[in-house]
Amino acid sequence: MASATEFSTLRTEIAGVPVIELAREFGTPAYIYDAGKIVERIQDLSMFETVRFAQKACSNIAILDLMRRHGVLVDAVSAGEIERAIAAGYATEGDPPPIVYTADIFDRESLEAVLRYGLHVNCGSPDMIDQYGERAPGGNITLRINPGFGHGHSQKTNTGGEHSKHGIWHEDLHDALRRADRHGLGVTGLHLHIGSGTDIEHLAQVCGASERLAREIGRTLTTISAGGGLPTPYRPGDTHADLTAYHRLWDDTRNRLADTFGHAVHLELEPGRYLVAESGYLLAEVRAVKQMGSNTFYVVDAGFNNLARPILYGAYHPISIAPASGKMESRAEQDVVVGGPLCESGDIFTQQDGGFVCKRSLPMAQIGDYLVIECAGAYGAVMGSNYNSKPLAAEVLIENGRPHLVRRRQTPQEVMQGEMIPAR
Ligand SMILES: *Cc1c(COP(=O)(O)O)cnc(C)c1O
Repeated sequence: MASATEFSTLRTEIAGVPVIELAREFGTPAYIYDAGKIVERIQDLSMFETVRFAQKACSNIAILDLMRRHGVLVDAVSAGEIERAIAAGYATEGDPPPIVYTADIFDRESLEAVLRYGLHVNCGSPDMIDQYGERAPGGNITLRINPGFGHGHSQKTNTGGEHSKHGIWHEDLHDALRRADRHGLGVTGLHLHIGSGTDIEHLAQVCGASERLAREIGRTLTTISAGGGLPTPYRPGDTHADLTAYHRLWDDTRNRLADTFGHAVHLELEPGRYLVAESGYLLAEVRAVKQMGSNTFYVVDAGFNNLARPILYGAYHPISIAPASGKMESRAEQDVVVGGPLCESGDIFTQQDGGFVCKRSLPMAQIGDYLVIECAGAYGAVMGSNYNSKPLAAEVLIENGRPHLVRRRQTPQEVMQGEMIPAR
Protein backbone atom coordinates (compact mmCIF):
# COMPACT_ATOMS: atom_id res chain seq x y z
CA MET A 1 0.00 0.00 0.00
CA ALA A 2 1.36 3.42 -0.95
CA SER A 3 2.18 5.68 1.96
CA ALA A 4 0.42 9.00 2.52
CA THR A 5 2.27 12.02 1.24
CA GLU A 6 3.37 14.59 3.78
CA PHE A 7 4.17 18.24 3.10
CA SER A 8 6.06 20.50 5.43
CA THR A 9 5.24 24.23 5.64
CA LEU A 10 8.85 25.17 6.28
CA ARG A 11 11.80 24.32 4.04
CA THR A 12 15.34 25.48 3.34
CA GLU A 13 16.19 23.49 0.23
CA ILE A 14 14.82 22.04 -2.97
CA ALA A 15 16.40 18.82 -4.26
CA GLY A 16 19.39 19.44 -1.98
CA VAL A 17 20.04 23.00 -3.17
CA PRO A 18 19.48 25.85 -0.66
CA VAL A 19 16.46 27.97 -1.60
CA ILE A 20 18.37 31.19 -0.89
CA GLU A 21 21.03 30.15 -3.41
CA LEU A 22 18.43 29.37 -6.05
CA ALA A 23 16.78 32.75 -5.47
CA ARG A 24 20.08 34.59 -5.55
CA GLU A 25 21.28 32.89 -8.72
CA PHE A 26 18.07 32.74 -10.76
CA GLY A 27 15.81 35.42 -9.23
CA THR A 28 12.12 35.09 -8.46
CA PRO A 29 9.63 34.02 -9.58
CA ALA A 30 11.27 30.86 -10.91
CA TYR A 31 10.17 27.32 -11.58
CA ILE A 32 12.53 24.80 -10.04
CA TYR A 33 12.31 21.17 -11.20
CA ASP A 34 13.77 18.19 -9.35
CA ALA A 35 14.93 15.75 -12.05
CA GLY A 36 15.21 12.98 -9.46
CA LYS A 37 11.47 13.06 -8.80
CA ILE A 38 10.70 12.82 -12.51
CA VAL A 39 12.98 9.80 -12.82
CA GLU A 40 11.27 8.16 -9.80
CA ARG A 41 7.86 8.61 -11.42
CA ILE A 42 9.16 7.19 -14.72
CA GLN A 43 10.42 4.15 -12.80
CA ASP A 44 6.99 3.69 -11.15
CA LEU A 45 5.60 3.05 -14.64
CA SER A 46 8.29 0.63 -15.80
CA MET A 47 5.76 -2.21 -16.11
CA PHE A 48 4.16 -0.39 -19.06
CA GLU A 49 6.12 -1.24 -22.18
CA THR A 50 5.63 2.23 -23.65
CA VAL A 51 5.24 5.40 -21.64
CA ARG A 52 4.45 8.40 -23.77
CA PHE A 53 4.74 11.77 -22.06
CA ALA A 54 1.86 14.16 -22.75
CA GLN A 55 4.27 17.07 -23.02
CA LYS A 56 1.59 19.73 -22.72
CA ALA A 57 1.92 19.25 -18.94
CA CYS A 58 5.51 20.57 -18.94
CA SER A 59 7.15 21.04 -22.30
CA ASN A 60 10.48 22.75 -21.62
CA ILE A 61 12.95 21.08 -23.99
CA ALA A 62 15.25 20.19 -21.07
CA ILE A 63 12.38 18.22 -19.49
CA LEU A 64 11.71 16.52 -22.83
CA ASP A 65 15.40 15.71 -23.14
CA LEU A 66 15.32 14.16 -19.65
CA MET A 67 12.29 12.06 -20.61
CA ARG A 68 13.97 10.93 -23.82
CA ARG A 69 17.15 9.91 -21.98
CA HIS A 70 15.00 7.73 -19.73
CA GLY A 71 13.23 5.94 -22.55
CA VAL A 72 9.97 7.89 -22.46
CA LEU A 73 8.31 8.67 -25.82
CA VAL A 74 6.34 11.82 -26.43
CA ASP A 75 2.93 13.13 -27.46
CA ALA A 76 2.46 16.44 -29.28
CA VAL A 77 -0.78 18.40 -29.60
CA SER A 78 0.40 21.23 -31.86
CA ALA A 79 3.00 22.15 -34.45
CA GLY A 80 4.88 23.91 -31.66
CA GLU A 81 5.02 20.76 -29.55
CA ILE A 82 6.24 18.80 -32.57
CA GLU A 83 9.11 21.28 -32.96
CA ARG A 84 9.87 21.01 -29.22
CA ALA A 85 10.09 17.21 -29.39
CA ILE A 86 12.47 17.42 -32.33
CA ALA A 87 14.54 20.12 -30.63
CA ALA A 88 14.84 17.79 -27.62
CA GLY A 89 16.33 15.07 -29.80
CA TYR A 90 13.34 12.82 -30.51
CA ALA A 91 13.54 10.98 -33.82
CA THR A 92 10.58 11.36 -36.16
CA GLU A 93 10.47 7.68 -37.11
CA GLY A 94 10.59 4.46 -35.15
CA ASP A 95 8.43 1.61 -33.88
CA PRO A 96 6.62 2.56 -31.70
CA PRO A 97 6.63 6.07 -33.17
CA PRO A 98 8.71 8.34 -30.91
CA ILE A 99 6.39 11.32 -31.54
CA VAL A 100 2.61 11.04 -31.99
CA TYR A 101 0.40 13.98 -32.91
CA THR A 102 -2.85 13.81 -30.90
CA ALA A 103 -5.58 16.41 -31.32
CA ASP A 104 -9.18 17.01 -32.28
CA ILE A 105 -8.26 19.10 -35.30
CA PHE A 106 -5.40 19.74 -37.65
CA ASP A 107 -4.78 23.43 -37.77
CA ARG A 108 -2.99 24.23 -41.00
CA GLU A 109 0.46 24.39 -39.37
CA SER A 110 0.12 21.06 -37.58
CA LEU A 111 -1.08 19.24 -40.73
CA GLU A 112 1.94 20.55 -42.63
CA ALA A 113 4.30 19.60 -39.76
CA VAL A 114 2.88 16.08 -39.51
CA LEU A 115 3.29 15.54 -43.27
CA ARG A 116 6.74 17.14 -43.40
CA TYR A 117 8.11 14.88 -40.64
CA GLY A 118 6.02 11.82 -41.50
CA LEU A 119 4.57 11.57 -37.97
CA HIS A 120 1.97 9.12 -36.75
CA VAL A 121 -1.37 10.80 -36.06
CA ASN A 122 -4.08 10.11 -33.51
CA CYS A 123 -7.33 11.42 -34.99
CA GLY A 124 -9.84 12.94 -32.56
CA SER A 125 -12.43 13.89 -35.17
CA PRO A 126 -13.79 12.28 -38.36
CA ASP A 127 -12.65 15.37 -40.29
CA MET A 128 -9.05 14.72 -39.29
CA ILE A 129 -9.22 11.30 -40.96
CA ASP A 130 -10.30 12.88 -44.26
CA GLN A 131 -7.84 15.76 -44.08
CA TYR A 132 -4.96 13.41 -43.37
CA GLY A 133 -6.12 10.73 -45.81
CA GLU A 134 -6.38 13.20 -48.68
CA ARG A 135 -2.76 14.25 -48.20
CA ALA A 136 -1.21 10.94 -47.09
CA PRO A 137 -3.33 8.05 -48.40
CA GLY A 138 -2.26 4.53 -47.56
CA GLY A 139 -0.72 5.17 -44.15
CA ASN A 140 -1.65 4.05 -40.64
CA ILE A 141 -3.56 6.03 -38.05
CA THR A 142 -4.81 5.86 -34.48
CA LEU A 143 -8.37 6.76 -33.54
CA ARG A 144 -9.15 8.62 -30.35
CA ILE A 145 -12.62 7.55 -29.28
CA ASN A 146 -14.87 9.32 -26.79
CA PRO A 147 -16.46 6.35 -25.00
CA GLY A 148 -19.52 8.38 -23.95
CA PHE A 149 -18.33 8.98 -20.39
CA GLY A 150 -15.54 10.95 -18.81
CA HIS A 151 -14.12 12.14 -15.51
CA GLY A 152 -11.65 14.80 -14.33
CA HIS A 153 -10.63 16.83 -11.29
CA SER A 154 -12.77 19.64 -12.74
CA GLN A 155 -15.46 19.92 -15.43
CA LYS A 156 -12.79 21.72 -17.43
CA THR A 157 -10.52 18.69 -17.46
CA ASN A 158 -13.18 16.06 -18.15
CA THR A 159 -12.52 14.86 -21.69
CA GLY A 160 -15.25 12.27 -22.22
CA GLY A 161 -19.02 12.25 -22.50
CA GLU A 162 -21.29 14.30 -24.73
CA HIS A 163 -20.27 17.67 -23.30
CA SER A 164 -16.64 17.07 -24.22
CA LYS A 165 -15.22 18.15 -27.58
CA HIS A 166 -12.63 15.38 -27.48
CA GLY A 167 -12.39 12.32 -29.65
CA ILE A 168 -14.65 10.58 -32.13
CA TRP A 169 -18.05 9.79 -30.62
CA HIS A 170 -18.20 6.06 -29.92
CA GLU A 171 -21.34 5.58 -32.00
CA ASP A 172 -19.50 7.04 -35.00
CA LEU A 173 -16.75 4.43 -34.95
CA HIS A 174 -18.02 2.67 -38.08
CA ASP A 175 -18.31 5.96 -39.95
CA ALA A 176 -14.69 6.66 -38.95
CA LEU A 177 -13.58 3.22 -40.18
CA ARG A 178 -15.34 3.79 -43.52
CA ARG A 179 -13.58 7.14 -43.88
CA ALA A 180 -10.24 5.47 -43.19
CA ASP A 181 -11.01 2.77 -45.80
CA ARG A 182 -11.87 5.39 -48.38
CA HIS A 183 -8.32 6.74 -48.09
CA GLY A 184 -6.63 3.37 -47.72
CA LEU A 185 -5.67 4.18 -44.13
CA GLY A 186 -5.09 1.31 -41.72
CA VAL A 187 -6.45 1.82 -38.21
CA THR A 188 -3.57 0.42 -36.17
CA GLY A 189 -4.13 2.29 -32.92
CA LEU A 190 -6.98 2.86 -30.49
CA HIS A 191 -6.74 5.60 -27.89
CA LEU A 192 -9.04 6.64 -25.05
CA HIS A 193 -8.41 9.46 -22.60
CA ILE A 194 -11.34 10.40 -20.37
CA GLY A 195 -9.86 13.24 -18.38
CA SER A 196 -7.12 14.74 -16.29
CA GLY A 197 -6.87 14.37 -12.54
CA THR A 198 -9.41 11.56 -12.39
CA ASP A 199 -9.17 8.49 -10.18
CA ILE A 200 -8.25 4.89 -10.74
CA GLU A 201 -11.85 3.65 -10.44
CA HIS A 202 -12.96 5.82 -13.36
CA LEU A 203 -9.84 5.02 -15.34
CA ALA A 204 -10.52 1.31 -14.91
CA GLN A 205 -13.87 1.71 -16.68
CA VAL A 206 -11.94 2.81 -19.76
CA CYS A 207 -10.46 -0.68 -20.04
CA GLY A 208 -13.81 -2.31 -20.68
CA ALA A 209 -14.83 0.34 -23.19
CA SER A 210 -11.49 -0.03 -24.99
CA GLU A 211 -11.88 -3.76 -25.32
CA ARG A 212 -15.36 -3.47 -26.84
CA LEU A 213 -14.22 -0.80 -29.30
CA ALA A 214 -11.06 -2.71 -30.17
CA ARG A 215 -13.10 -5.77 -31.10
CA GLU A 216 -15.23 -3.62 -33.40
CA ILE A 217 -12.14 -2.26 -35.13
CA GLY A 218 -10.64 -5.73 -35.41
CA ARG A 219 -7.35 -7.21 -36.50
CA THR A 220 -5.75 -4.10 -38.00
CA LEU A 221 -5.14 -2.96 -34.42
CA THR A 222 -1.61 -3.34 -33.12
CA THR A 223 -1.59 -0.75 -30.32
CA ILE A 224 -3.98 0.35 -27.62
CA SER A 225 -3.35 3.42 -25.51
CA ALA A 226 -4.74 3.84 -22.02
CA GLY A 227 -4.37 7.61 -22.28
CA GLY A 228 -3.25 9.71 -19.31
CA GLY A 229 -5.17 11.06 -16.36
CA LEU A 230 -3.26 9.27 -13.57
CA PRO A 231 -3.84 11.10 -10.29
CA THR A 232 -0.94 12.46 -8.26
CA PRO A 233 -0.80 13.66 -4.64
CA TYR A 234 -1.51 17.35 -4.05
CA ARG A 235 -2.82 17.35 -0.48
CA PRO A 236 -1.43 15.96 2.74
CA GLY A 237 -2.60 12.37 3.03
CA ASP A 238 -3.01 11.80 -0.73
CA THR A 239 -1.35 8.62 -1.91
CA HIS A 240 0.13 7.39 -5.17
CA ALA A 241 -2.39 5.19 -6.98
CA ASP A 242 -1.99 1.42 -7.09
CA LEU A 243 -0.44 1.18 -10.51
CA THR A 244 0.29 -2.53 -10.32
CA ALA A 245 -3.41 -3.33 -10.28
CA TYR A 246 -4.07 -0.72 -12.94
CA HIS A 247 -1.40 -2.19 -15.20
CA ARG A 248 -2.78 -5.69 -14.67
CA LEU A 249 -6.22 -4.61 -15.89
CA TRP A 250 -4.78 -3.20 -19.09
CA ASP A 251 -2.34 -6.05 -19.56
CA ASP A 252 -5.20 -8.57 -19.32
CA THR A 253 -7.22 -6.56 -21.82
CA ARG A 254 -4.32 -6.39 -24.20
CA ASN A 255 -3.65 -10.13 -23.88
CA ARG A 256 -7.27 -11.05 -24.60
CA LEU A 257 -7.16 -8.85 -27.70
CA ALA A 258 -3.89 -10.40 -28.81
CA ASP A 259 -5.47 -13.87 -28.49
CA THR A 260 -8.43 -12.82 -30.60
CA PHE A 261 -6.38 -11.05 -33.25
CA GLY A 262 -3.64 -13.66 -33.42
CA HIS A 263 -0.87 -11.07 -33.14
CA ALA A 264 0.77 -9.01 -30.42
CA VAL A 265 -1.03 -5.91 -29.18
CA HIS A 266 1.19 -3.18 -27.88
CA LEU A 267 0.14 -1.24 -24.76
CA GLU A 268 0.85 2.45 -24.24
CA LEU A 269 0.28 4.75 -21.30
CA GLU A 270 0.20 8.52 -21.85
CA PRO A 271 0.65 10.40 -18.59
CA GLY A 272 1.35 14.09 -18.31
CA ARG A 273 0.65 15.23 -14.77
CA TYR A 274 1.85 12.05 -13.07
CA LEU A 275 5.41 12.36 -14.38
CA VAL A 276 6.04 16.01 -13.59
CA ALA A 277 3.61 17.46 -11.02
CA GLU A 278 5.62 16.67 -7.90
CA SER A 279 8.94 17.67 -9.44
CA GLY A 280 8.00 21.33 -9.84
CA TYR A 281 8.27 24.18 -7.32
CA LEU A 282 7.29 27.76 -8.02
CA LEU A 283 9.70 29.90 -6.04
CA ALA A 284 8.51 33.40 -5.12
CA GLU A 285 9.57 36.10 -2.69
CA VAL A 286 7.29 37.59 -0.04
CA ARG A 287 7.02 41.30 -0.96
CA ALA A 288 4.23 42.48 1.35
CA VAL A 289 2.58 41.24 4.52
CA LYS A 290 -0.63 43.12 5.18
CA GLN A 291 -3.75 42.98 7.23
CA MET A 292 -7.18 43.45 5.63
CA GLY A 293 -9.68 43.39 8.46
CA SER A 294 -9.46 39.90 9.88
CA ASN A 295 -7.32 38.52 7.02
CA THR A 296 -3.54 38.46 6.84
CA PHE A 297 -2.18 38.50 3.29
CA TYR A 298 1.21 37.35 2.09
CA VAL A 299 1.66 39.05 -1.26
CA VAL A 300 4.37 37.46 -3.37
CA ASP A 301 6.02 38.25 -6.72
CA ALA A 302 4.46 35.26 -8.54
CA GLY A 303 0.86 35.42 -9.78
CA PHE A 304 -1.60 33.56 -11.94
CA ASN A 305 0.50 34.66 -14.89
CA ASN A 306 2.96 32.06 -13.53
CA LEU A 307 0.59 29.43 -12.11
CA ALA A 308 -3.00 29.51 -13.31
CA ARG A 309 -4.34 26.29 -11.75
CA PRO A 310 -5.80 27.95 -8.61
CA ILE A 311 -7.72 30.63 -10.54
CA LEU A 312 -8.73 28.22 -13.31
CA TYR A 313 -9.77 25.21 -11.26
CA GLY A 314 -9.61 26.25 -7.62
CA ALA A 315 -6.68 23.83 -7.48
CA TYR A 316 -4.93 23.21 -4.17
CA HIS A 317 -1.13 23.38 -4.02
CA PRO A 318 0.99 22.74 -0.92
CA ILE A 319 2.80 25.93 0.13
CA SER A 320 5.89 26.34 2.28
CA ILE A 321 7.94 29.24 3.58
CA ALA A 322 11.74 29.35 3.21
CA PRO A 323 13.28 31.83 5.65
CA ALA A 324 15.55 34.50 4.16
CA SER A 325 18.21 33.42 6.67
CA GLY A 326 18.44 30.04 4.96
CA LYS A 327 18.02 28.39 8.38
CA MET A 328 15.33 26.08 9.63
CA GLU A 329 13.97 28.59 12.16
CA SER A 330 11.11 27.48 14.33
CA ARG A 331 8.25 29.85 13.60
CA ALA A 332 4.69 30.01 14.84
CA GLU A 333 2.02 29.50 12.22
CA GLN A 334 -0.91 31.75 11.36
CA ASP A 335 -3.84 31.54 8.95
CA VAL A 336 -3.07 33.59 5.87
CA VAL A 337 -4.22 34.29 2.35
CA VAL A 338 -1.53 34.10 -0.35
CA GLY A 339 -1.85 36.47 -3.29
CA GLY A 340 0.22 37.61 -6.24
CA PRO A 341 1.11 40.96 -7.82
CA LEU A 342 -1.48 41.15 -10.62
CA CYS A 343 -4.10 43.89 -10.82
CA GLU A 344 -6.97 41.45 -10.52
CA SER A 345 -8.64 40.32 -7.32
CA GLY A 346 -8.63 36.68 -8.49
CA ASP A 347 -4.85 36.59 -8.20
CA ILE A 348 -4.98 34.39 -5.12
CA PHE A 349 -3.17 31.07 -4.71
CA THR A 350 -5.32 29.97 -1.78
CA GLN A 351 -8.74 29.74 -3.40
CA GLN A 352 -11.37 27.10 -3.97
CA ASP A 353 -13.40 26.32 -7.06
CA GLY A 354 -15.76 29.25 -7.65
CA GLY A 355 -13.11 31.75 -6.61
CA PHE A 356 -13.76 31.59 -2.86
CA VAL A 357 -10.73 32.83 -0.95
CA CYS A 358 -9.45 30.41 1.71
CA LYS A 359 -6.89 30.70 4.45
CA ARG A 360 -3.89 28.48 4.91
CA SER A 361 -1.89 27.87 8.05
CA LEU A 362 1.68 28.97 7.24
CA PRO A 363 4.70 30.01 9.28
CA MET A 364 5.00 33.73 10.13
CA ALA A 365 6.81 35.44 7.27
CA GLN A 366 8.55 38.73 6.62
CA ILE A 367 9.51 40.61 3.51
CA GLY A 368 12.44 38.84 1.90
CA ASP A 369 11.41 35.36 2.99
CA TYR A 370 10.64 32.99 0.16
CA LEU A 371 7.38 31.23 -0.50
CA VAL A 372 7.39 27.95 -2.38
CA ILE A 373 4.31 26.69 -4.18
CA GLU A 374 4.75 22.95 -4.50
CA CYS A 375 3.53 20.22 -6.85
CA ALA A 376 3.53 22.86 -9.58
CA GLY A 377 5.40 20.95 -12.28
CA ALA A 378 2.32 19.98 -14.28
CA TYR A 379 0.25 22.62 -16.05
CA GLY A 380 2.35 25.29 -14.35
CA ALA A 381 4.99 27.03 -16.48
CA VAL A 382 3.28 25.88 -19.67
CA MET A 383 0.17 27.89 -18.81
CA GLY A 384 2.24 30.96 -17.99
CA SER A 385 1.26 34.21 -19.70
CA ASN A 386 2.48 37.76 -20.11
CA TYR A 387 -0.60 39.24 -18.39
CA ASN A 388 0.26 42.60 -16.83
CA SER A 389 3.34 42.48 -19.10
CA LYS A 390 5.06 40.16 -16.66
CA PRO A 391 7.90 38.13 -18.16
CA LEU A 392 7.63 34.34 -18.27
CA ALA A 393 9.50 33.02 -15.23
CA ALA A 394 12.93 31.46 -15.30
CA GLU A 395 12.98 27.64 -15.24
CA VAL A 396 15.71 25.67 -13.48
CA LEU A 397 16.33 21.93 -13.58
CA ILE A 398 18.22 20.39 -10.66
CA GLU A 399 19.94 17.19 -11.71
CA ASN A 400 22.36 15.32 -9.41
CA GLY A 401 22.40 18.22 -6.98
CA ARG A 402 23.32 20.78 -9.63
CA PRO A 403 20.92 23.51 -10.78
CA HIS A 404 20.84 24.30 -14.50
CA LEU A 405 19.04 27.26 -15.98
CA VAL A 406 16.79 25.76 -18.67
CA ARG A 407 14.84 28.88 -19.51
CA ARG A 408 15.96 32.37 -18.72
CA ARG A 409 13.45 34.94 -17.55
CA GLN A 410 12.08 37.00 -20.44
CA THR A 411 13.21 40.59 -20.81
CA PRO A 412 10.68 43.45 -21.22
CA GLN A 413 11.80 43.66 -24.87
CA GLU A 414 10.96 39.98 -25.38
CA VAL A 415 7.53 40.53 -23.86
CA MET A 416 6.86 43.21 -26.51
CA GLN A 417 8.49 41.22 -29.30
CA GLY A 418 6.45 41.11 -32.50
CA GLU A 419 4.34 44.13 -31.63
CA MET A 420 4.51 47.19 -33.88
CA ILE A 421 3.03 50.65 -34.23
CA PRO A 422 1.60 51.15 -37.74
CA ALA A 423 3.57 53.63 -39.87
CA ARG A 424 1.65 56.84 -40.62
C1 LIG B 1 -3.72 16.04 -21.49
C2 LIG B 1 -3.63 14.72 -22.10
C3 LIG B 1 -2.96 13.69 -21.46
C4 LIG B 1 -2.33 13.84 -20.11
O1 LIG B 1 -3.24 14.01 -19.11
P1 LIG B 1 -2.70 13.96 -17.60
O2 LIG B 1 -3.90 14.10 -16.77
O3 LIG B 1 -1.78 15.12 -17.46
O4 LIG B 1 -2.02 12.68 -17.42
C5 LIG B 1 -2.87 12.49 -22.11
N1 LIG B 1 -3.41 12.30 -23.31
C6 LIG B 1 -4.06 13.28 -23.96
C7 LIG B 1 -4.62 13.01 -25.30
C8 LIG B 1 -4.20 14.51 -23.38
O5 LIG B 1 -4.86 15.47 -24.03
